[in-house]
Amino acid sequence: MPTPTRYPHLFSPLDLGFTRLKNRVLMGSMHTGLEEAEDGFPRMAAYYAERVRGGVGMIITGGIPPNEEGGFGAKLSTPEVADQHRLITGAVHAADADVKICMQILHMGALAPNPACVAPSAVKSRIAPFTPQALDEAGIEKQLADFARCAALARQAGYDGVEIIGSAGYLLSTFLVEKTNLRTDAWGGSFGHRMRFPVEVVRRVRAVVGPDFILIFRISAMDMLEGGLAWDEIVTLARAVEAAGANILSTHFCWHEAPVPTIATMVPRAAFASVTGRLRRAVTVPLITSNRINMPEVAESVLARGDADLVSMARPMLADPEWVNKAREGREDEINTCIGCNQACLDHTFGGYKQVSCLVNPRACNETLLNYGPTPARKRLAVVGAGPAGLAYATVAAQRGHAVTLFDSAAEIGGQFNLAKRIPGKEEFFETLRYYRRMIDVHGIDLRLGTRVDAAALQAGGFDEVIVATGITPRRPEIEGIQHAKVVSYIDVILGRKPVGQRVAIMGAGGIGFDVAELITHAGPSGATDIDVFAREWGIDFANHPRGGVTGVLPQVASNGRSVMLLQRKTDPVGKTLGRTTGWTHRMTLARRGVRLVNGVEYLKVDDAGLHVRVFGEPQLLEVDTLIVCAGQLPLRTLYDDLVAAGVKATLVGGAFEASELDAKRAIDQASRLAAVV
Ligand code: FAD
Ligand code: NAP
Ligand code: SF4
Repeated sequence: MPTPTRYPHLFSPLDLGFTRLKNRVLMGSMHTGLEEAEDGFPRMAAYYAERVRGGVGMIITGGIPPNEEGGFGAKLSTPEVADQHRLITGAVHAADADVKICMQILHMGALAPNPACVAPSAVKSRIAPFTPQALDEAGIEKQLADFARCAALARQAGYDGVEIIGSAGYLLSTFLVEKTNLRTDAWGGSFGHRMRFPVEVVRRVRAVVGPDFILIFRISAMDMLEGGLAWDEIVTLARAVEAAGANILSTHFCWHEAPVPTIATMVPRAAFASVTGRLRRAVTVPLITSNRINMPEVAESVLARGDADLVSMARPMLADPEWVNKAREGREDEINTCIGCNQACLDHTFGGYKQVSCLVNPRACNETLLNYGPTPARKRLAVVGAGPAGLAYATVAAQRGHAVTLFDSAAEIGGQFNLAKRIPGKEEFFETLRYYRRMIDVHGIDLRLGTRVDAAALQAGGFDEVIVATGITPRRPEIEGIQHAKVVSYIDVILGRKPVGQRVAIMGAGGIGFDVAELITHAGPSGATDIDVFAREWGIDFANHPRGGVTGVLPQVASNGRSVMLLQRKTDPVGKTLGRTTGWTHRMTLARRGVRLVNGVEYLKVDDAGLHVRVFGEPQLLEVDTLIVCAGQLPLRTLYDDLVAAGVKATLVGGAFEASELDAKRAIDQASRLAAVV
């Protein structure tokens, strides 16, 4: 008897004629960095197989270029490499013969970090390092042949299909868009000519792989480019690709260079699914939707509304390989939710193609290296501090069989995440706390909230080890007048404990300075939870779908009218240290609210008149009512020092270990690795 499920659409099979998908959840393509690693194939095999055991219906691999010029390292162009891929397909099919795995063929075109990169025209992307060489007729023929060879090799390697990426600013999509295709021959000009290359790729691939092989085409259903694709062009392309042999269309909503956030945590859940729904009504093949679908009820409602046939989740599968099983078994409250932060995944990919992992799950892409096996010797552990570091430590240690008591002086778990979750646009941080709260029950952790422990109590408790995860204390720079009533800490501001005036200076422009600026200038509902607000803020027109889906006019973001200056001492551009893939959205939002970003600041003193500074050596008085200090943090180690003095074995983790540049990614990673071996 099949298990009854709250998600009937999610768990219904999909018949493709020659084959069947066991459910509607697919793991979307993500470049992990393992593709280029020396030990990449066994690690990818373990990584994908774990998601198969977790219940996913179909996997799309990270992108593999069909030739040298299409990427920068890994490629599939010879039978020898196809043999190596067998490690992946073998592991996936051994884990569950009903699960399909398709290899994504990714030709990066002008975005390839490769001086030999090619494109329809020699148009350099603003985010790419090289100007591509324009393809001549022979070059086009070579690319088409390479695509076909790559697909044939993928079949030989045991894949069930291929996905061809025709979006995002990669090769195929640059043929489609006028600003990157300046050709006047039969591959450029009219839309019929511009779509000829992508359609021909699909036709050639279908011809070599035969009819009984999955062929997915990833289409830009909204490319977010001014002058991008018009809706009728998208429909024309979708139908042409279908006629050429694609049996699934996967909708994509971006070009990487488009200045509109499409997957960051500030994007509402399933914000773009309605666009897939619109395209679904224009074609007959099944449609995949994606972007910020991270929980089962969201995925189910997208399918129930008829917006898509399949739901693609990429980052959520990094965050929790068991996502599908947990949803099917009614254990959705145990899902470790992707919070859309990009910190360990896309920031790594786009920050120099470093290996990807996940902030909330450091095992992601490290399945062969980091495991939480049962402990051979159960210990009594005290973990002090239930912030991200303490929570991660306690969860992993308890999961391994240790007896864990978790103390926090606060009334709720979460530490600084309780501040983060109050920032508009960071609502997803609630999910991490919900996950850990549930893990405390699942693993039988003895949670003692409202309990500030000291060394004597811990010593008397008879613990085998004490883990000190007491976090940080905010830095308060010693400048004249720092005790003035107008100087407040970010903690008091975020918790609403101190009033904030109309004219504000923020000292320190790190992640917290930016978050505080967002909080104190914000007006109205958060765009992260309201698709209409989000669309208005970023100039997206879902109703009329102008070219690219964008209006080209960025309206002023709603602001509460406060006059705010965000200050730093460094002469670097303000916000340079923010996340690679998200920093620009924060800088842009604040700029549009009129927040002044000021670098090269020397703080002199605070008095009734305001904050006295020198900016690049020039004395200035900033007439502010409030100065909010966000000047970094120092480790809070009082308890640790007391324990050491009392001769108690103690281990530091998270901010208590090192506060400088600490984020939750490092805190959770460090704590999990230590708890894996305790
Ligand atoms: P903390 O979170 O500080 O937790 C320490 C805990 O120890 C607290 O709960 C405290 O009550 C408890 N404690 C202290 N002393 C005792 C004692 N003696 N007895 C009992 N309990 C005690 N990081 C990111 O990666 N991405 C973000 O987007 C992000 N946004 C942020 C936004 C804001 C507004 C803030 C403030 C932080 C943000 N951070 C972010 C940083 C992140 O929250 C921290 O890096 C992380 O919380 C550090 O974890 P921790 O467990 O070391 O310390
Ligand atoms: P931070 O990023 O280290 O920034 C601290 C800021 O304070 C810097 O702008 C620094 O710039 C300034 N500063 C340092 N010492 C100072 C001093 N003595 N006097 C005056 N200014 C001083 O730290 P944070 O903003 O407190 O954030 C803590 C951690 O949380 C960060 O590591 C960050 O990764 C994480 N976080 C991340 C996000 C995110 O979105 N990813 C959001 C929030 C927080 P100058 O030295 O140039 O003045
Ligand atoms: Fe999601 Fe952040 Fe993990 Fe990336 S690092 S998968 S965005 S939670």
